[in-house]
Amino acid sequence: MKYISTRGGMEPISYSEALLEGLAPDGGLAVPEAMPAVSLEQIEKWRALSYPELAVEVLSLFATDIPGADLERMCNAAYSSANFVAEEIVPVTALVDNISLVGLSEGPTLAFKDMAMQYLGQSMEYALRKQGSVLNIVGATSGDTGSAAEYALRGKEGISVFMLSPQGRMSDFQRAQMYSLTDDNIHNIAIDGVFDDCQNLLKALSGDLEFKREHHLGTVNSINLGRISAQVVYYFWAWLRSSDSLNAEGRAEHRISFTVPSGNFGNILSGHYARLMGLPIDRLVLAANENNVLDEFFRTGIYRPRSAANTYLTSSPSMDISKASNLERFIFDLLGRDADRLAEAWRTLDESGELDLSAELPRFEAEFGLVSGTSTHADRVNTIREVHERTGIVIDPHTADGVKVASSLIRDGEQMYVLETAKPEKFPEIVVEAIGKAAELPEHLAGLLELEQFVTEMPNDAAELRAFVAARAVS
Ligand SMILES: *Cc1c(COP(=O)(O)O)cnc(C)c1O
Repeated sequence: MKYISTRGGMEPISYSEALLEGLAPDGGLAVPEAMPAVSLEQIEKWRALSYPELAVEVLSLFATDIPGADLERMCNAAYSSANFVAEEIVPVTALVDNISLVGLSEGPTLAFKDMAMQYLGQSMEYALRKQGSVLNIVGATSGDTGSAAEYALRGKEGISVFMLSPQGRMSDFQRAQMYSLTDDNIHNIAIDGVFDDCQNLLKALSGDLEFKREHHLGTVNSINLGRISAQVVYYFWAWLRSSDSLNAEGRAEHRISFTVPSGNFGNILSGHYARLMGLPIDRLVLAANENNVLDEFFRTGIYRPRSAANTYLTSSPSMDISKASNLERFIFDLLGRDADRLAEAWRTLDESGELDLSAELPRFEAEFGLVSGTSTHADRVNTIREVHERTGIVIDPHTADGVKVASSLIRDGEQMYVLETAKPEKFPEIVVEAIGKAAELPEHLAGLLELEQFVTEMPNDAAELRAFVAARAVS
């Protein structure tokens, strides 16, 4: 299997190469040349597999240049009980009515990004070793992505991480999680500024092509193909668990829907890929918060990215996006995988700030099962409270956006699986607002806030950052 650019201007590359790439040279995103197909018989054969075993099967369809034994070792290391609290790695739990939760937040940073990042840490180290090269990951984070990357890449050979965070703007828990790491290859840098300042510093560094090449700079953002491929696995897992109690006939007809709390469109894109591969998914429901560019797109066919200044700070902060980087991969499929049409569409988008695909709107649901909805702060609070009253389960605000949108769009007889994207312990304020008390940190994290923290404070100054990275980069 080779990977091509959505915009057609890249020689096909291997999976291992795509793992280490950011944007394609033509500005597009790497996508599989053809989607691997999986039959129902094949899926049935996977029923008895553990999560890491299933990951090997699904990922081997994408990672055709990685020998099975190597993939097995990496999946066992990534999806181990040392990293994930739940024995089954991804617990699937009935919630209310026909709505269930797919537990993706059992990993070290209590959010779904661990699912892909833990595998990416393994596979990047492997691909770099094979190439005989190194990578210095430079990232900016306001919380979740940075910590998931650090926990996945700590101690990895040939990789260093330089993570910029806005000083004083993360929660105590997020700070403690990142800054308490003591691994030599993890560098936390607190910038005197806001998240946008961190992003601008990052752009200044990676925009300097000579510096970038000299110091082997890279990223692990949500467009990374390795992350997308690893996320496909849990859609198969959830479908299998949802049908374990059915007989053979029931299984043959079994279809479920997923609701995905969305930001950069990475998580739900993996569901779209699972559906194209042949997994019997009925609908994929996109849940947005007040930053609802994607909901607008899926309701009207018009995509209108917003500026950072027009992005609200909400109580489901990991979904606060103005522009959804992975949407390009879906639109590539929508436009019949025609790179010329996609490139043309993106030229229009860049020039006019808007992409009008309303002519294709009827196909969104009919052909791809995609629908969407928006949830607000009041919805999150009510949903957290109601779910807690009815089940005793405390959900986090992002998952609450999912449950809210799922409840409002679910049809009679539809079985809806909401992806739980984070644990409530990370967001005490809204949980207190909803149920009058915070969710308690799990036992294994109870001492986290007391640990010594290691962070370099730095002014908002590109030259200083450059010197810091140059002095500590692996080479
Ligand atoms: C990253 C994140 C999301 C959004 O996922 P995308 O793949 O960007 O759509 C939702 N919820 C939480 C908790 C996240 O960390």
